[in-house]
Order: sequence, then structure tokens, then C-alpha cells
Amino acid sequence: QDSLTFSTSAFFSYVLYFVFQLVTYAPFTLFPSPVPKTVFLQALALQTHYNTLVDKISQDPDFLQEALASTIAVDDFTAKLFRIHKQILKEGRSQSIVLGLNRSDYMLDQREDGSSSLKQIEINTIAASFGGLSSRTPDVHRHVLKVAGRLEESQRILDNNPAFGLTAALAKAWELYGSERAVVMFLVEETQRNIFDHRYIEHELWKRYDQFVLTVYLYDSLFSDGREVAVVYFRNGYMPQNYVSEQSWDARLLMERSRAVKCPDISTHLAGTKKVQQVLARPGVLEKFFPDQPQVVEQIRATFAGLYTLDLGAEGDKTVTMALAAPDRFVLKPQREGGGNNIYGSEICQVLEGVKDSTERTAYILMDKICPWPVQNYLLRRDAPLKISNCLSELGIFGAYVRHGKDMVMNECVGHLLRTKSSEHSDGGVAAGVAVLDNPLLV
Ligand code: ADP
Ligand code: MG
Ligand code: MG
Repeated sequence: QDSLTFSTSAFFSYVLYFVFQLVTYAPFTLFPSPVPKTVFLQALALQTHYNTLVDKISQDPDFLQEALASTIAVDDFTAKLFRIHKQILKEGRSQSIVLGLNRSDYMLDQREDGSSSLKQIEINTIAASFGGLSSRTPDVHRHVLKVAGRLEESQRILDNNPAFGLTAALAKAWELYGSERAVVMFLVEETQRNIFDHRYIEHELWKRYDQFVLTVYLYDSLFSDGREVAVVYFRNGYMPQNYVSEQSWDARLLMERSRAVKCPDISTHLAGTKKVQQVLARPGVLEKFFPDQPQVVEQIRATFAGLYTLDLGAEGDKTVTMALAAPDRFVLKPQREGGGNNIYGSEICQVLEGVKDSTERTAYILMDKICPWPVQNYLLRRDAPLKISNCLSELGIFGAYVRHGKDMVMNECVGHLLRTKSSEHSDGGVAAGVAVLDNPLLV
């Protein structure tokens, strides 16, 4: 019986793997990677403040207008999102329930004394993924370590269940919406490269709230089987290619205008842009969002890397000169998501030489390059030979919040994600084919 089962599943694996090449395992490290405990706890402690910050920015149209003015003048994608945001402001928001599921990402910058300091890479306010898969990876490393005879380490792998918290927030928003027959809609791309990640969240919804929450997948139309939509969960819509035609933009506007709770709504989406991140790092800006909480300001600011404007003017000129003089110290970032869009090293000079005297340069921001201490590990992926690599890790922390009018009814840190890549790659991202899933081993 066993061997029959095995050969049947092996057969299907072969069919999928060799013939269609449709399904493969999510890539992961063979062993967990060390992360200093103090830095890990620091990142967890920050998350509810980052939730609050994103939520406050999303409610501050003047700030968004000022922060993004130069960007939307040259970046067509951000400009289109901004236009929807303006239209919603003009018409008035149709829903006072706000649902935020985000992930704040960090790398650990080398300090001379051998320690590390936590620096934010970015915050993802739309389609922040791997909350599902990272709920399963602890068991993978526990098993591997046991097999390798490293029992003590195996027991030190942290529990992690972002899916639980993300689902709780989705369900809370659905409940506040207050219509038993309404559904939660997952907005996904037609070819789903990371399907098991959001399926896991979906299954958690079914498992824990079965008689109430129905999940509907939307491919290319807004008609969800004639059912009322309580919550739209965007797992798509964060890059220009996701909007295949003007109709896709009309659909986004339609969703924003609807009474459904949007995760995220358009202003929360914009709050997650790299330009906003750069503006937040300017002196006095965080203070505006946390006027009576200097400790919170200090805690958040401690995680900011150097971020520099490329707006026209003396300050932007200084940024250009600085970047051209030492391109290896920086990362040049356009307003894009999903990995693989940033510019590094000598390419920074090429790009900046081309745009430095025009408004085109304001489509980018410049950021200090974070350099973690490398560690050795094996990266397991289908298409790469197995070899030991020098690796760099990126720690993500998941945040979930629900606001109803003025009341924050939920504001939580719901789990973590560790992604690790070979130090040969500048850019990252699991979906981009560079990073793989990992677990932190606190040291
Ligand atoms: P995206 O929204 O496309 O994920 P990120 O800002 O996260 O954009 O950049 C993608 C990847 O590039 C990150 O996962 C990280 O590996 C690398 N990266 C980004 N910013 C920096 C930085 N300041 N220092 C070092 N690496 C960076
Ligand atoms: Mg991102
Ligand atoms: Mg990223």
C-alpha cells in the first residue's frame, strides 16, 4: 500500500515536474540562519508602531500629496494610483473599516565591533506575501536538524504562525462589515506563482470561520458569482504589469469606490512607496505623526538607513554627486515592488548620468546599502546545483491591524519571515528567484 501510494504521488510529481514544469517546492535553506536575539526582539517590538504609522499616513492626504508630488510628475504607475486616491478623496470614502496586512523588512548592518544594527529595507503595504509558507517552515528545519542529529538546535526553532494573525484580521474586518452572506475576495494574478502561500491563508479562513467566510478568487472580472464582497484582499495589483488594460484600472477604481473593505485601500497602498519611506526619514517628519511619543519616534528612526531625495534642487544635486562618487555604497530605487527593480554599483552611474539633469531622476530615491555579516548555508532550489554559499538574510515582520472609524480594534505583530540569498546577488525576493525561505536561529 505504501509503495503504491508513493509511486502514484511520484508519478504525479514527475508529470508536473518534467512535462509541464508547473509545480515545484518553495526554495528554502538547508539549515536555519543565526539572528541576534536582541535585534529580533527589537524588530518585533516595532511592528505595532509601524502599523500605526502606515495607518496615520494613509489618513493624511496633505502629507501624501506633498511627499509624492515630484514622483507622480514623472512616474506613470504611481501617478495612476494617485489619481484614484484623489478621486476617492473627492467623492469621500465609502467605508470606515480599514484592514492593514503589512510586512516590514530589515537587514542587519555590520558594525565595526562585530555586532549588527537593525535597518529597515522597506515596508510592504500591499500583497505582502509568505505569511502562509512561513507558518510551515519551522517544522521543515526542525525535521532537517533532527535528521542531522542536531537535536538541541532543532528545539530552538521558533514557533511562527503569521497565517493565524493575518486570518484573524481578515475575519475581523469581515465581521465588522456585518453581512453574513458576504465573502472575502482574494484578488490574485491569472498565473499564480505563489499559490500555496495565499491558499494557506484561505484554508485558515475556512478552518476557523467556516460557516461565515467564503473565499472567492477573482481573475479578470469583478463579478464574484453574484455575491456581495465584504473584503477585497489584494495579492496582485502592485506592479504595472498587473494592470493589463485600462479596464484593470477601472476595476481598481470600482473596488476603491465600493463599500468593501480594501486590504489595502489606495492611500495605504501609496503609504508603502519608497518615496514616502524617504520622506519619513527627513528631520521632523516622524515627530509629526507621533507628536507626544518621542520614544516611539526614536525607536522607529533607529531603524532608518540613510535615505536621500533626488528631487530637483541643491539637495538632490548633492545626492547625485554622492552616488556617482561611491556607487557601491548605495542602492538606487524606483517606485516598484516585487524584487528585481533596484539598481546597484556601476549601473547606478549609468542610470544617473542619463537622468541627472532632468525631472526623470525624481522617479527614484537613493538609499544606503546595508551590508550584513555573511553566513554559510545551502540554498535548496529546483534549478540550482547544491553548493555551500555565502549568504545574506532579510528579516520580515508581519503586522495586522483593523481600524473602525477612529477606533483601532486590532493592532498586532503576527509573525516573522526570514529570507536568505547568496551574497552574489544584490537584489532579493523569493518570487524574483533570488532569495529562499529560512528560519532564524536566535543567538
Ligand atoms: P521590493 O519592493 O522590490 O522588494 P526592496 O526595497 O525590498 O524592493 O528591494 C529588493 C531587494 O533588494 C531586497 O530584498 C534586498 O535584498 C535588496 N535591497 C534593497 N534595499 C537594500 C539596501 N538598502 N541595502 C542592501 N540591499 C538592499
Ligand atoms: Mg516591496
Ligand atoms: Mg522587498
